[in-house]
Amino acid sequence: MADPRAAARALISEHALIAGEAVTGSGSRIAVDDPATGEIIGHVPDLGEAETKQAIQAAHDAFPGWSRTDPHKRAAFLREWARLIDENIDGLGALMALENGKPFEEAKVEAVYANSFLKWFAGEAERLLGDTQDSPLGHAIITFRQAVGPAALITPWNFPAAMLTRKLGPAFAAGCTAVVKPASQTPFTAIALVELAYKAGLPKGALSLITGDAATIGGVLTSSPLIRKLSFTGSTPVGKKLAEQCAPTLKRLSMELGGAAPLIVFADADLDVAVAETIKGKFRNSGQTCVCPNRVYVERSVSEEFAEKLAAEVAKLKVGNAFEDGVKVGPLIEDKAVDKVERHLEHIKEKGGRVLTGGGRHELGGRFFQPTVTLGGDDALFREEETFGPLVPIFAFDSEDEVLAKANDSEFGLASYLFTRDLDRAFRVGRQIEAGMCGINTGLTSTAVAPFGGVKESGYGREGSTHGIDEYVDIKALTLGLR
Ligand code: NAP
Repeated sequence: MADPRAAARALISEHALIAGEAVTGSGSRIAVDDPATGEIIGHVPDLGEAETKQAIQAAHDAFPGWSRTDPHKRAAFLREWARLIDENIDGLGALMALENGKPFEEAKVEAVYANSFLKWFAGEAERLLGDTQDSPLGHAIITFRQAVGPAALITPWNFPAAMLTRKLGPAFAAGCTAVVKPASQTPFTAIALVELAYKAGLPKGALSLITGDAATIGGVLTSSPLIRKLSFTGSTPVGKKLAEQCAPTLKRLSMELGGAAPLIVFADADLDVAVAETIKGKFRNSGQTCVCPNRVYVERSVSEEFAEKLAAEVAKLKVGNAFEDGVKVGPLIEDKAVDKVERHLEHIKEKGGRVLTGGGRHELGGRFFQPTVTLGGDDALFREEETFGPLVPIFAFDSEDEVLAKANDSEFGLASYLFTRDLDRAFRVGRQIEAGMCGINTGLTSTAVAPFGGVKESGYGREGSTHGIDEYVDIKALTLGLR
């Protein structure tokens, strides 16, 4: 691509969309910056209660028509939307690289991954199967899976495209209409995707996107009796608050929240595979993913060897601006994020951990941090707080029971990873880890066909896979008296 920055800027639309119409608002605007430079790349309107209510009303009005549309036609729409996204992978990748800071090559991979949810759920729309059952009362019972109603979808900044399509794919497949609130730090990718949805033939009203103060918009969405479903991806504290706000209207909820993933390496593992996969899992999005390993436990007899091999590979990762060739680690999303990684590193050092590579802010300054590997110290902080940055703390362990207890001693339970060549152990530990997902001899588990979601305070509900559409349907039972 000749000039990806220019392609990104060409895709920036500085407006929200209510029922497919651009809305610029008349009041203040929210600035969006390039995390690599701090330069303002555009603004979105700071909308509030009135516009959110309009969007909800539009979703409510469009619901009867869209939910009764032949599911094959909804599938055809999803495929057409996916086709348009395929035509724009480079542009969307460049836009994400610009507003999120993730390396351009990686951002293109996210665009493809995001699109895979639309393709997968197009198929699921065609397989919205019910069932039949004879009842002991002599009736025939016939079930249908019907759309729950207008849905509110709130998404984070770390995967600006994929977190949106992972919700909109199943929502549209089921027949729901939606109001989207994207993260204020990365709204432009979401706006571009919504514009492509309308280009693909989505009926007016089926989708709106509101930008503005999160608490105000969230308050209106969660209190509205017209919204029947909330799907939220973001931090655990905000998820808890939203769940509370939804209680009075008893909405269906999906909560994709924070994690503190353990990664366990047993002495019998292929250490080269474990090192390569740890890097893949940890450094995607510069360590800012909810599923990235937050704490690495290595069996003591191989802990030094693993740590040295990992540090040697991590030292090779090029840090820089998303658009530079060969860059693997970009800036963090905001200054506060850099402060947090620094605090976690200081904690390790205070507790006696050694820095094997990296060890502080990057010479590029701003929001760049050196990819860092440590060995030793205390893991307690990392069980309860996501670092959300390029720091890999390694801790040695002596037994399977000990490491399993540590892995499970956390409020979180999203992703987990283990490396071993012992099949019995893989199943035994994999099934006992308190997490919604466990990667065995792999650091990457996310695809459209795998169920994604957590347990404990990482939330509930599953996205992707054959289960994802269940979050957007109710079971309707028709009981037929047979005479
Ligand atoms: P966040 O602060 O919870 O924000 C996420 C979204 O919620 C943003 O759109 C934000 O809007 C909005 N929001 C914030 N306060 C709100 C409120 N009071 N009412 C309604 N909406 C509100 O999370 P974040 O720091 O951006 O994202 C990172 C977190 O997401 C991490 O904890 C990560 O683990 C988690 N995450 C989880 C998954 C998963 O699938 N489990 C995937 C990715 C990320 P503004 O941007 O306008 O503040």
